[in-house]
Amino acid sequence: MPAAQEPWLISVQDAATTLSPDRRTVIAFDLEGRPTSWFTGGDTFKRSLASEVFGRRSVDGDRRRWRVDQTAADALFDDAIRVAGAAREASRRGDPVVERAQAETLAARLETILAWTPETLAAERERFLGAYAPISILPPDQYGAVVLQATFGCSWNRCTYCSFYQGRPFQVRPSEAFDAHVDAVRALLGRAAAGRRSVFLADGNALVLSNERLRPIVERAGAVFPGRPLAGFVDVFSGERKPEAAWRELRSWGLERVAIGVETGHDPLLAYLDKPGSADEAAAFVTLLKGAGLRVSVILMVGVGGRRYAEGHLRDTSALLRRLPLGDDDVVYLSPFVRHDDSTYAERAAADGLVDLSESERAEQDGALRRAARDAVPGARVARYHIDEFVY
Ligand code: SF4
Repeated sequence: MPAAQEPWLISVQDAATTLSPDRRTVIAFDLEGRPTSWFTGGDTFKRSLASEVFGRRSVDGDRRRWRVDQTAADALFDDAIRVAGAAREASRRGDPVVERAQAETLAARLETILAWTPETLAAERERFLGAYAPISILPPDQYGAVVLQATFGCSWNRCTYCSFYQGRPFQVRPSEAFDAHVDAVRALLGRAAAGRRSVFLADGNALVLSNERLRPIVERAGAVFPGRPLAGFVDVFSGERKPEAAWRELRSWGLERVAIGVETGHDPLLAYLDKPGSADEAAAFVTLLKGAGLRVSVILMVGVGGRRYAEGHLRDTSALLRRLPLGDDDVVYLSPFVRHDDSTYAERAAADGLVDLSESERAEQDGALRRAARDAVPGARVARYHIDEFVY
């Protein structure tokens, strides 16, 4: 007797369509009909707006991530289109694919998906590069944002471990160029913008600009992508130069969340990393932001400074956490430190004999920081932040 065919599972959501011909495959599409993710055979694949595809797999509790080569990406694109074609056939046959009320919407969405080919999907890369400079990093809560690059790079750009903006000097995008950028992003996202619920002002610390300069940027962002809260990165040493009244003003213009690379509460480690600021300044700055009514994402690194700094990092970061007035709306991110071989950090560590933590020491530090964050800030969310896992 032939095995019974599994029924299709199709979901027609406000901002996405998901197709699952069997329970081993689920493919999601944005409202422009472009595939955004595949779950297949236990692996997850995500496609960026630049049509790069990244795979992810859990092996013995470890997450592995890799960039999919073009041939494999084309095969995934092909598969997505094939599955959409099969969904259309099933729907035309009258299989109970979706409720009657959604049938028309599904038919239109499938036509949008089927208008793509692997070639036109791959060509999205060119459109992306026409709209954006490479996006180096985002905080996890902003992976689904509309990213607008008001500035390029980072105004400091000298932390020894950081390679996000190498070769990209800090620059403010002139206002006409910003307007053209916003228009290009709107065209690139198309209807898929509906699924992006916030606006992230990039790059590294766009919020360092004076409010006078930020005002037209915020207004333009709000005019083109209305109804979305704003977010951005800021560092302690640059953010603290703005008085609370200025942050309050930004709050009134729609800024909702600020992500701060605090990294550690251990001042000697900050100095070793060439990152300006101190634990006292971080505590004062977070207090100021909370006073201005903002939500805060505090980013701490796990494993940075290796064995030499481990004790001081844990002790002083735990102490710093106890001083931060964080609440339910705030997040503490624990970010596993990534040592790039070509970084100044790696060069210095090799020269002065700094030894990395072993896997188990790193896991121990992660657990201890997690407990410290939970104890210090009972309502706040504590989450992992893998800097190499973001896909925009
Ligand atoms: S402040 Fe942030 S973005 Fe700038 S160099 Fe340091 S870590 Fe990198």
